[in-house]
Amino acid sequence: MNPVSGLGWAGFALFWGITALAAGVFLLRGYQLLMFLSLGRDSPRPSELIRKALAAIGHLIVQTCQFKNLRRQDRAPTGHLFMVWGFLLFVTYYFFFIIIASGFGISEVMEGNRVYAVYCWITDIAAPFVVIGAGWGLIRRYLFTPTRIKEQRTWEAALILVTVLLHPITHVGKIATQIAAGSPPAGLGIPNPPLSNAIAQLYTGSSSVAGWHTFWFWAHWGFVLFVLVIIGYTRYLHVPASIINDAVRPPKKGALSPIDLKDKTTFGAGRVDRFTQKQLLDAYACVVCGYCQDACPAHFTGKPLNPRVIIRDIKANLLKNGPLIYHKHEPVLPLIGETKPGSVHPDELWACTTCWACMEVCPVYIEHVPKIIDMRRHLVQMESNFPEELLGFFENMEQRSNPWGIAPGDRAKWATGLNVRPFEAGKTEYLFYVGCFGSFDTRSRQVTLAIARILDAAGVSWGILGRDEKCCGDSVRRLGNEYVFDVMARENLKLFQERGVTRIITECPHCFTTLKNDYAQYGARLEVSHHTEFIDRLIAEGRLKLNRTDLGRVVFHDSCYLGRHNDIYQPPRRTVAAVTGSPPIEMPRHGNRGFCCGAGGGRMWMEEKLGTRINHERVSEALKLDPQAIAVCCPYCMTMFEDGVKDRGADKKVQVLEVAEIVARALTSGQHGEAHG
Ligand code: SF4
Ligand code: SF4
Repeated sequence: MNPVSGLGWAGFALFWGITALAAGVFLLRGYQLLMFLSLGRDSPRPSELIRKALAAIGHLIVQTCQFKNLRRQDRAPTGHLFMVWGFLLFVTYYFFFIIIASGFGISEVMEGNRVYAVYCWITDIAAPFVVIGAGWGLIRRYLFTPTRIKEQRTWEAALILVTVLLHPITHVGKIATQIAAGSPPAGLGIPNPPLSNAIAQLYTGSSSVAGWHTFWFWAHWGFVLFVLVIIGYTRYLHVPASIINDAVRPPKKGALSPIDLKDKTTFGAGRVDRFTQKQLLDAYACVVCGYCQDACPAHFTGKPLNPRVIIRDIKANLLKNGPLIYHKHEPVLPLIGETKPGSVHPDELWACTTCWACMEVCPVYIEHVPKIIDMRRHLVQMESNFPEELLGFFENMEQRSNPWGIAPGDRAKWATGLNVRPFEAGKTEYLFYVGCFGSFDTRSRQVTLAIARILDAAGVSWGILGRDEKCCGDSVRRLGNEYVFDVMARENLKLFQERGVTRIITECPHCFTTLKNDYAQYGARLEVSHHTEFIDRLIAEGRLKLNRTDLGRVVFHDSCYLGRHNDIYQPPRRTVAAVTGSPPIEMPRHGNRGFCCGAGGGRMWMEEKLGTRINHERVSEALKLDPQAIAVCCPYCMTMFEDGVKDRGADKKVQVLEVAEIVARALTSGQHGEAHG
């Protein structure tokens, strides 16, 4: 029973005519979109592309991206799972049993066996799940809408869900009418697929069953071709784009790309074609799910930044300017500006704390932060356009290699009167890289002392660079001042090389990630540990003897740069537990879903003029758990929490402690090291 051959040569002409037309529109649009992508700068060539492509297909089949966000509070990914798994099964059906079987007039051969009957069973089971998934999607989007998709109740979203919903219905109609006419999958020696069989009862005995079959067949194939046509024009585009995006994503998520400082003509991204091709592909891959929006602390506290909107605007800008740039004309829509949609406002860019929450939750591996930094780079280096409070910060960094412009001679003041040794190659094993906060900030100096005592207590061979230590350049880089960062990174690496430094312990997670990840881009091969990781190892090796210490209810706050940036979550928790006897209490947003303190990405050095304060939001979340102590592991978090706890009037009741301070307090009396003074 083949509605194509049943119409004779006209059937074949119609089938292949509309199929070729749809495929033509699809390919033409695909070519156009690729042309726009080609305008971007070359992305670093991904290594092991075949392995990664196979892995990406595996991820598609398993739908790892959906499990990322599947939680008790949000079961929306389940609906998507149903749709994708169903889609994969139906695509296989189209290929074998529509294109080959019907298109070439060989249905009798292809469908006259049990394989076909079994496959009809499979699609028969899949069809209701796809309908449930799409129906659920429609209900959630238009009736019980979560905030993250409130602005996404568009005709486009409805069109997509309706096509997904209707297409399995047409498939079941097609199979049911085949059964009603006694054609395969009926009569192949195994029971008919139940759903199609039930619907077949409506047609059994009807004289017009063949006509109905023809209707369902063409309706079904028409739907499929319609979807093919609209893929390139709607967010269906995320399907092919996200698979490629997965295959070509860099091994280190979100690593900032070094810029060619010798090319004096342009730095950063001030035009859409200054992004890399991979960054532009990100814009195609976005499915507008809004998970990044929900995770963003800046958006949450009423700042103008919304990572979803950033990606939307980059895409709109590319689609608008792409044809012009391709034909060597000037773009008409500024990339950084006030036009919406299509431009990114500078306030959006400066509001980002680079906390990576958006990148952590994005199901299609979009990298928001590198794009934000690239646009900051353009503003800073090409336009000298940045918040005025950063002027002094940049000057201090350039001239004195610390944010406050304090004399470098004061760097080792914290060690005055203590038996702290300078790092000496061959004699000292570890460099304790103290960092600017640990060296100059009064509160953080207490943490520095605590770390020094712990290292001594465990008998670690360590030393410092003292006045020769320079800032690692973390904030400078995240603020887009790549030129100054480049100078700082090269100077530091030269110093490390001259002094024979290869193993480093840092106090600050920002120094940690900069020395470990950013400096690796300069070819550095350093073994870098954050102090919480290092202390955790010392405890595991039995090198620290700790008294059990009761600190009351201890709530733990994850540092974004230790957690999401480096996937280190357990060492600080284990360390607190080793002292208090029980794991710290978790806030609702913790681990890789932790909520930023508000100071990363250079925000530490800027006024927070828009929206409410991020640290207030986070401190309120912690205070709801009625803690006696809040444990942190980053000097920025320490500052933000101490300020927030004071602002909330809780400083008499709640102490903010660094993990190292908790450990230092618990050192047994025989273990107080020399650095104790
Ligand atoms: S990095 Fe953090 S602050 Fe920046 S856009 Fe992403 S979620 Fe928002
Ligand atoms: S960027 Fe990622 S998380 Fe954000 S809306 Fe797009 S697909 Fe969703």
